[in-house]
Amino acid sequence: MKYIDEFRDPELAQRLLTEIAGRSRRPVRLMEFCGGHTHAIMRYGLRELLPDTVELRSGPGCPVCVTANADLDRAIALAQVPDLILTTFGDMIRVPGSSSTLQDAKAGGADVRIVYSALDALAMARQNPQRPVVFLGVGFETTAPTIAAAILQAEAEGLENFSVLSLHKLTPPATRAILDAGDVALDGVIGPGHVTTIIGADAWQFLPQEYAVPVAVAGFEPLDILRAVSELVEMAETGRPAVSNSYARSVTRQGNPTALAVMERVFETAAATWRGLGPVPASGLAIRPAFAGFDAGCLFQVDPGPTREHRGCLCGDVLRGTVLPPECPLFGRACTPARPIGPCMVSAEGACAAYYQFGEGVS
Ligand code: SF4
Repeated sequence: MKYIDEFRDPELAQRLLTEIAGRSRRPVRLMEFCGGHTHAIMRYGLRELLPDTVELRSGPGCPVCVTANADLDRAIALAQVPDLILTTFGDMIRVPGSSSTLQDAKAGGADVRIVYSALDALAMARQNPQRPVVFLGVGFETTAPTIAAAILQAEAEGLENFSVLSLHKLTPPATRAILDAGDVALDGVIGPGHVTTIIGADAWQFLPQEYAVPVAVAGFEPLDILRAVSELVEMAETGRPAVSNSYARSVTRQGNPTALAVMERVFETAAATWRGLGPVPASGLAIRPAFAGFDAGCLFQVDPGPTREHRGCLCGDVLRGTVLPPECPLFGRACTPARPIGPCMVSAEGACAAYYQFGEGVS
């Protein structure tokens, strides 16, 4: 298949659905790690098309959603530093911290600017040599190499007013944390396609080997996802867990060595705190001491004040896969995309936003 509409072919989808229904005898619960998959699943109504024996749960694969309130508060406090320009991807600006958002900070006079890439932030640093320009580094292994490349570029140019607040996170340790917590029993994982393009399918071998949980790495079209579900059901039925690559047009076993090398040069693994999972060892990326001059966390000491969680918001449970978004009492009532209470309703990859936008809303 070459063209995008071929990956949406209704006849092929029906064939895969028939295959899944024929294979699936015992109930299985599968987690789609990635928020992009949740949106595709909801957009194409795949949950309703699958047999009753196959349950899908969304996972922690939305980088905006898993950013802890304490980190959001730190970013909001950073935006108040005199003369500082804080640059960020658009989704982050509306995410509520403990008591405000970056949008509130901007309305109050802070210079918060939306950018489409770290290179836009670099351009701002060149245009404003007298002012510190900080890029809010939020994302998984997909985003981190581009941020690392921006830091290397800043170093090469001697751009001393550019820095990054690194809140990057790594996906395999989060998946391990979910399984170790044991709150939700999983029979398979739909592996994140974009992340795995960078880290390689072999990075998921620990799931079948240590947890006996099969993985199928998937792209983001309906046939990609259905193929992954079919393979997971087959592995669950036969009791032969493995890593299957349903996204071979993008993913290799080893990943992207250039991207991994850039990431490795600039970042080192560190503990990170995830919304819903808490502190997870070796699940974050800190800027290496050699690049401390580009590390906003070292350069600016801010006091964000006490952190508090939003009362009633179940984002943490949604991200762990223990509840579905409509099970949150605030879903579609107090919390909507127009007036979000939690990040899962704000982000383009948030599970609550997907359920609200494409169905399975509140009755
Ligand atoms: Fe949080 Fe809103 Fe989702 Fe409830 S519906 S979990 S309040 S984002």
